[in-house]
Amino acid sequence: MKDKIDTDTKVLGLIGNPVEDSLSPKLQNRAIDELGLNYRYFAFPVEEGSVKEAVTGARALGLKGLNVTVPHKEKTAELADELTDAAEAIGAVNTVLFRENGGILGDNTDWTGFLESLKLRDSNPEGQSCLVFGAGGGARGVVYGLIQGGAKEIMVANRTYERAKKLVKDMKDLEADAELAARSLDEEELEGSVEAADLIVNATSVGMGDSRGKSIWNRTECFQAGQLVYDLIYNPRPTKFLKLAGGQGAETVGGLDMLILQGLASLKKWTGKEFSAGELLTVLRKELSGLCNSR
Ligand code: NAP
Repeated sequence: MKDKIDTDTKVLGLIGNPVEDSLSPKLQNRAIDELGLNYRYFAFPVEEGSVKEAVTGARALGLKGLNVTVPHKEKTAELADELTDAAEAIGAVNTVLFRENGGILGDNTDWTGFLESLKLRDSNPEGQSCLVFGAGGGARGVVYGLIQGGAKEIMVANRTYERAKKLVKDMKDLEADAELAARSLDEEELEGSVEAADLIVNATSVGMGDSRGKSIWNRTECFQAGQLVYDLIYNPRPTKFLKLAGGQGAETVGGLDMLILQGLASLKKWTGKEFSAGELLTVLRKELSGLCNSR
């Protein structure tokens, strides 16, 4: 189907602001080509006040689905006619599906992307002690994923303590088996928890953009062999956080696989096509990894 656009070509899109640097069009169009589908995926910058018009306009134009990125994930959750259990618990939509009856279904594939990326490394959060830095949309997806994956303890540490508390309260409402706790970013208070954690996740934006070269956690001696240290950031690769952890012998994972796997989960939902994400992963990693480092 590559380079063939005709009246049967189905359109997918991404809304957010900004979207210029998004890797999703490259990722999705390459996956679409690999799968031989007659679809194309475009990025649309959408202003804050225009999210409803953009989503209903996309539906009116017959788009098959949308991805949603910062800062519109929460707003899209509010305007959807229906939410999946995951999108409701996470409070954010990264995938929109247009129903046959015209309804707008909000879904979230961040959490499956996160869990699948762990599985790929033969890692399983079941019974583990986990520490998550951050309490924004990404962190909410990670915590939801850890709960679904059977984690034993999940500590959420965030600069704005109230936001961590809110995350923990919302997830406790799901009556999860995991023990959940909220903390501020106080290093003294967190030191023991970082040392004791099996899995440590950075779900803050510290380490990318203006804070490239910075790490959310700098007490390097708390990292150790046997821990898995994960950064949702996929650019730069690796982040300072992962360099510090890797230097102490911890196993490290960057955010690129999660990005790819959440995107492929959305593509499956829009197209109904069954495929093995694992088989596409190698080609997509290659397609995107050069772009990550040069941005
Ligand atoms: P968000 O909702 O804006 O949340 C940002 C988080 O970073 C908040 O917890 C915020 O703390 C924290 N933060 C920002 N600046 C900070 C600073 N200087 N010091 C300490 N904490 C700081 O963003 P998001 O959507 O959750 O995304 C967070 C990161 O995850 C981004 O890098 C994003 O690219 C990445 N992500 C990756 C994937 C993937 O597929 N790999 C998926 C989702 C997100 P406050 O609450 O105190 O402001």
